[in-house]
Amino acid sequence: MNFKNYSKIIVANWKMNGSFSLINQYKNYLKKNYIKFNKKIAIVICPPFPYLTICKNKFKYKNIFLGAQNLSLSDNFSKTGEISSSIIRDTQCNFVILGHSERRNLFKESDKLISNKVNESLNNKINVIICIGENLSEKRKSNTFKVLKKQIYKSLSNNCSPKNTIIAYEPVWSIGTGKTPTIEEINKIHTYIKKILNIKYHLKNYKFKVLYGGSVNKKNSKDILSLKSVDGVLVGGASLNIIEFAHIINFNKN
Ligand code: PEP
Repeated sequence: MNFKNYSKIIVANWKMNGSFSLINQYKNYLKKNYIKFNKKIAIVICPPFPYLTICKNKFKYKNIFLGAQNLSLSDNFSKTGEISSSIIRDTQCNFVILGHSERRNLFKESDKLISNKVNESLNNKINVIICIGENLSEKRKSNTFKVLKKQIYKSLSNNCSPKNTIIAYEPVWSIGTGKTPTIEEINKIHTYIKKILNIKYHLKNYKFKVLYGGSVNKKNSKDILSLKSVDGVLVGGASLNIIEFAHIINFNKN
């Protein structure tokens, strides 16, 4: 997938949700309404692992891609219950979400581990969506920029490039809370992230795509997605309802 072909990238992170019923709701809705979708918007659906192949077979549209929500390093193949990058690649997944705050916090994933996973995914030709973001206490101490810079330097890997890596700015305090930064804050932070990425990867123009994630819904999506510095959104809760998710995808028509 060539990211440059798309004006915005909209990611559905189902987390540990989803069912055959949800997949069928997506399928039926897409069958009726896909024709009206803007084909310059890439849609990446990230269901739990067992649903990847069924989603692949049911959502056969040119701008709809699939993503996994995690992978395990294949440093040792005797890891019962884990899924490697080569297995994900085999399911024809184009993306994997790495560094999500839930994995950083609940599963104690360090920047170093995330960076190793990024490196391995890219070596297996799976594009990465790397989440970064400050928590509430870091925000209150005005450490947002410092935290983001550290995560960019430590969670990415040397083989990241604007062709295989997307950054998702997800303030942890905003995920699932209904709270979001102001539009001005999102713009300022995205511009900062792009600037730091340019410095790290010795680039001139802003080339990396940076998505916003955290309580995106049908009411706030238009304002967020209308920002030039926002290349798309990563949607959790609101992606579990195809009508609301479609509203977000069609933000410029509403
Ligand atoms: C997420 O899980 O990455 C997320 C952004 O969730 P929500 O949209 O529900 O805040």
